[in-house]
Amino acid sequence: QSAHPEFDVIVAGGGPGGATAATLLAKRGHRVLLLEKERFPRYQIGESLLPSTVHGVCEMLGVSDELARAGFPVKRGGTFRWGANPDPWTFTFALSRKLAGRTSTAYQVDRARFDQILLENARKHGVDVREEHEVLALIEEDGRYRGVRFRDDSGAVATAAARYVVVAAGSSTALYKGVGERVYSDFFRNVAVFGYFEGGKRLPAPNEGNILCSAFDDGWMWYIPISDTLTSVGAVVASERAATIQKDREGALHGFVDSCPIVRDYLSEARRVTSGKYGEVRVRKDYSYRSTRYWRPGAVLVGDAACFVDPVFSTGVHLATYSGVLAARSISTVLSGSLPEAECFREFERRYARELEVYHTFLQAMYNINESESSYFWEARKVLGTDQPDEEAFVDLVAGVSAPGASRFGDALRDATRPESLDEGDAVFAGEGTRFLGSVLREAGDLQLRAVAGEQDEPEPGMFPDGLVSSADGLSWERRA
Ligand code: FAD
Repeated sequence: QSAHPEFDVIVAGGGPGGATAATLLAKRGHRVLLLEKERFPRYQIGESLLPSTVHGVCEMLGVSDELARAGFPVKRGGTFRWGANPDPWTFTFALSRKLAGRTSTAYQVDRARFDQILLENARKHGVDVREEHEVLALIEEDGRYRGVRFRDDSGAVATAAARYVVVAAGSSTALYKGVGERVYSDFFRNVAVFGYFEGGKRLPAPNEGNILCSAFDDGWMWYIPISDTLTSVGAVVASERAATIQKDREGALHGFVDSCPIVRDYLSEARRVTSGKYGEVRVRKDYSYRSTRYWRPGAVLVGDAACFVDPVFSTGVHLATYSGVLAARSISTVLSGSLPEAECFREFERRYARELEVYHTFLQAMYNINESESSYFWEARKVLGTDQPDEEAFVDLVAGVSAPGASRFGDALRDATRPESLDEGDAVFAGEGTRFLGSVLREAGDLQLRAVAGEQDEPEPGMFPDGLVSSADGLSWERRA
């Protein structure tokens, strides 16, 4: 292999994880080739996003305005019929002190469109994006990955060389195998069956864009508004049901809807979509897993290629884009020659593993469905080991901003516009177990003022005492001063 390969980085897979890593690497001037098996727009599940993705990573990628123009429903939080309380309870992202104004919301997205926006954005930043190009294998030489073998859109097989390969090819390919082994969680072994409905009801304002999750006898259901009239509806049940579900997907989905009172009521006047990309009832095993390693010399795993954790808090795209940021930081730092590879990827692996571990531990507690919501909030604080109030710890966790420095990584404070959520009339929350803390919003306002005054540029605190911190632009690592 040449010491000067044609590309600095090859990214396998153009979903949110791959598009994020590719764009941030191109922003630092690296030559990036992204190979995507499908032609976009393509269907994908995972429509409910977190504020950390929308206002953090997407801001870094430069797609915030485009996302705002796309008109995706705005998600202010989640409404849960879960636990001992028979009434639904609602949490709102505005409760997090790390989020302010419009940054305390996220979107519910049509993934085909969202993913295409991110992929086109990678192109605009200079990434050489080639669709209908399937990566067949990673090429290893002398203990280091040095490129890939791929099939192009004409069916011809070729190779390409690079100094790094980012494997972002999702859950269903075997490309991760060169890096680590997949270990499945003993706890989360579920199967999901899902479809789309026109004309479903909406939660009362201002929570009409919230995700609604409801536990029922067989498991739990999601109800996600992805336009004013279209709703994504799915049931997550124990994997033993998989064979029966596969025999009659549609019957199974309707059966679950019928046994889940809130969802049955919300769909009472709706009809299932039966044509187009939303016309199918789909089934996915959503077993949770993680790779025993996330990197090897020359290759790194991001997103579902590396790990997946139960979808109840919509963390998939967050973990994919977060790991895309961490991978880009690590690769850029090594390519610039400023820090050794092992030190950069150690930081990558520890931060990524920490984020996954926090969700994995917390979600196990969420499956203890006979608890009160206050015990879930308490569990969040325990998992994070913070001294903030329980409910705020819970919101930080489910907003994807629990990591130290997340507000900087999220650049959440950059929102200089006066947010609507600071209006008093907006402070309305439904259901028990929620409360509105005016002081939190006042603090959010203060933080915004600081942001406008340019005082937000304190160094990232770092996550580990002996670890690295991110650079001012968030695109590489530095040692502590
Ligand atoms: P993907 O989005 O899968 O993208 C991978 C890309 O790689 C694809 O475009 C694929 O075509 C391409 N590819 C595959 N193989 C190759 C190859 N050999 N060569 C080149 N390209 C290749 N997440 C949320 O955030 N919110 C939710 O509400 C949510 N709900 C979910 C519900 C269920 C039932 C499940 C199972 C998951 C859910 N998720 C959710 C998780 C979410 O779907 C994933 O975590 C997310 O899509 C991962 O992004 P990614 O970029 O890693 O992979």
